[in-house]
Amino acid sequence: MTIVNIKKRANEIRTLLHQYNYEYYALDNPSVPDAEFDRLMQELIKIESDYPELRTEDSPTVRVGGAAVSKFEKVQHLNPMLSLSNAYSMEDLNEFDKRVRAEVGPDAEIEYVGELKIDGLAISLKYQSGVFHDGVTRGDGTEGERVFENLRTIKSIPLRLKQPIDIEVRGEVFMPKSSFEKSNVDRLANGEEPFANCRNAAAGSLRQLDPKIAAKRNLDIFIYALGENDLSYLQNHDESLQVLNELGFKTNSLTKTFSNMENLQAYIQQIHEDRPSLPYEIDGFVVKVNQLGYQQKLGMTSKAPKWAIAYKFPAEEVVSKILDIELTIGRTGQLTPTAILEPVQVAGTTVGRATLHNEDIIKAKGIKIGDYAVIRKAGDIIPEVVRPIVERRTGEEFEFVLPTECPECGSDLERLDGEVATRCINHTGCPAQVREGLIHFVSRDAMNVDGLGEKVVNQLFSNGLIHTVADLYRLRKEDLLKLDRMGAKSVDNLLQAIEVSKQNSLERLILGLGIRHIGKNGAKKLAQKFETMEQLKIATFDELITTEDMGDKTADSVYTFLHHTESLALLDELAQLGVNMKYKGPKPVVVAAGDNPFAEKIFVLTGTLHQMKRNEAKALIESRGGKVTGSVSANTDVLIAGEKAGSKLTNAQDLGVEIWSEEKFIEIIQ
Ligand code: NAD
Repeated sequence: MTIVNIKKRANEIRTLLHQYNYEYYALDNPSVPDAEFDRLMQELIKIESDYPELRTEDSPTVRVGGAAVSKFEKVQHLNPMLSLSNAYSMEDLNEFDKRVRAEVGPDAEIEYVGELKIDGLAISLKYQSGVFHDGVTRGDGTEGERVFENLRTIKSIPLRLKQPIDIEVRGEVFMPKSSFEKSNVDRLANGEEPFANCRNAAAGSLRQLDPKIAAKRNLDIFIYALGENDLSYLQNHDESLQVLNELGFKTNSLTKTFSNMENLQAYIQQIHEDRPSLPYEIDGFVVKVNQLGYQQKLGMTSKAPKWAIAYKFPAEEVVSKILDIELTIGRTGQLTPTAILEPVQVAGTTVGRATLHNEDIIKAKGIKIGDYAVIRKAGDIIPEVVRPIVERRTGEEFEFVLPTECPECGSDLERLDGEVATRCINHTGCPAQVREGLIHFVSRDAMNVDGLGEKVVNQLFSNGLIHTVADLYRLRKEDLLKLDRMGAKSVDNLLQAIEVSKQNSLERLILGLGIRHIGKNGAKKLAQKFETMEQLKIATFDELITTEDMGDKTADSVYTFLHHTESLALLDELAQLGVNMKYKGPKPVVVAAGDNPFAEKIFVLTGTLHQMKRNEAKALIESRGGKVTGSVSANTDVLIAGEKAGSKLTNAQDLGVEIWSEEKFIEIIQ
């Protein structure tokens, strides 16, 4: 790039960052994820350090945060409320450790305090003779807004301390996940735009001019530092947290002190894994030098203390460009549009595709090909396109139009009334559907053939070795050895795994057949009731529909499948090839509804169970006639809460759902 272009790029980024800062701090309504903001900021910092002549007075790189904009009174902080420098990797943390040691001296025994980085907003609270008398937001770091009345509505802020002292403390106001979800439901019902995230919800609520509204938002606080104080006897940061706690402040119980980086980093990893089950949002982890003397020695820059650093978790929301929209065809013929993206790092992995679910969702979200869009991947969830960034359109983007013919086999497409899915009608001949059906048959929940994943199935299919699931049981070693990347050992393993799958209990076969509307649960209920494929084949519609959990549509679909000549021929073939056709699992326990605390009740499991795995607990409940669902609602009868139960527990408490500990559950089972 020429210097002219670099200057242009720097200006472009500054304009964007100014805009994003304004949306984030003043409007509490960001249009891009934090990771995109951070990425642009890093790019600008790099340009300004490579070309100092391009620095400007008003560059967003020299500011701590956003200016305070609203009707609240502005207040100067006694000491600036700084930002934190960022670390994006464990190497960055090691670098930080090295800098600290270099500065403090090689022989110093440095301790670090690790704190969760709560995703809320920083606040300063003042107490006079132990009485809460003022509260101000961080604002731009030197001047914030007096939101005292609103802060007084937060129940975890003590109005009077246990000792009558003068003190300033600092902490993070946040909105718990459960309140965030509830607030957004209310906002949508009132025709308001939902909050983008917990941080903005907390900031927006604290900025309410009417404290009654703020009071309804269920905000909470963690205090993480002393401000102005006379407690000069304190030596360490963790000690000051202890004192704060004793004075009556809420501090975070997951804060820990470490004598080396290794243990600290292992703890960060653990917190990262536990993140989804925490009742509040965190966006990283803050590492602080524990010894206050060393903190003083290290000092600060104009932006941030040199004795602390914020490790940011890999972003779960980022921005990328939608290069194209591709259609994939599932085993039931359903067309799923997928966005092809400029590859981007999300939550620690590179993502090049993201699901768009269906045509209606593309329309509802207003997504066009060529758009820059927010991409999200939380936990194990498949990446999805959240929303386009309309402000970044150039005019070259265009609408996605669904074709009228199947892109794989050219057959007609249909969309049934009341369904969102569009399907290819050629169910038995469309190669995509046949291939997907084969992949489903061997998948983990169905026939569970080890070593036979999507790639190998595709290879066998495209080489003409399998057309139906029965062909799997006719595969010959000599044919497999001719394929690419198939050595003698892997062929033997594959054939062995296929052989083993013949012994599966009936429910796996039923699921593998891919009968419409039959999932894992339905397959199991059918296998338990009819016990053999022969019995199932001759079942009447009435017998099918009286199977537990079986609705009209499902019973109809099973009946139709089992009266189709092609399906019957396939089942005969499988039986002749030696595939087991009998149910081998336990019979369900039948207990009279009156004395059975599980019968017809809806259970939800959450947190870590110590005496059994989740799926074992689920099986126990189901074998006693209970049902297990994934989320807490007004229909839930009992929540079984293991250790570190998160938002589901809070939800259940809010809804007055009965709660059992693991011990109680086991006692009742026994
Ligand atoms: P920061 O959020 O990276 O870190 C400092 C803040 O961490 C403190 O002010 C405090 O609020 C918080 N914090 C939480 N737990 C803490 C603890 N235990 N100890 C100390 N502090 C703790 O820095 P920032 O200056 O507040 O905000 C900058 C960040 O805001 C950017 O990195 C970006 O991610 C985000 N941002 C996003 C947009 C956008 O448009 N999406 C715009 C502006 C800023």
